[in-house]
Amino acid sequence: MNEAIKMFAPSGMFGASENDSVLDIVLRKISAAAGNSNDWPEKYGANFDNDIFHMHTECYCGNEDCQYCWDESEKGERTANFIHKPSGFKVWWYKYISRDTKTNMEITVDELKKIEVDCINSVKK
Ligand SMILES: [Zn+2]
Repeated sequence: MNEAIKMFAPSGMFGASENDSVLDIVLRKISAAAGNSNDWPEKYGANFDNDIFHMHTECYCGNEDCQYCWDESEKGERTANFIHKPSGFKVWWYKYISRDTKTNMEITVDELKKIEVDCINSVKK
């Protein structure tokens, strides 16, 4: 019984990994703070909204007018999975945080860290 076991897992399947970008890490932390730990928020994101940020997981309902269902042709046009309201910074991902990530603006690591603190503090209020 010493066969090698090969595993294939989508990026993000097991939460944070060393291959994550700073953006992925920040999103996972915010999601973990905002989400229900039973729903694997570090992987999928969370459904959360307050004055500081909006976060929404991928939706699979398939309704034509759904703002959260993935549609390749509308990538970047549907409602973002993450919106930091004060800065207007938006992030889209496909199913899992870190997968096919798209943002609406360039952002520095320092700015990302500020967004992280801002969002996590806002959840604790
Ligand atoms: Zn949907």
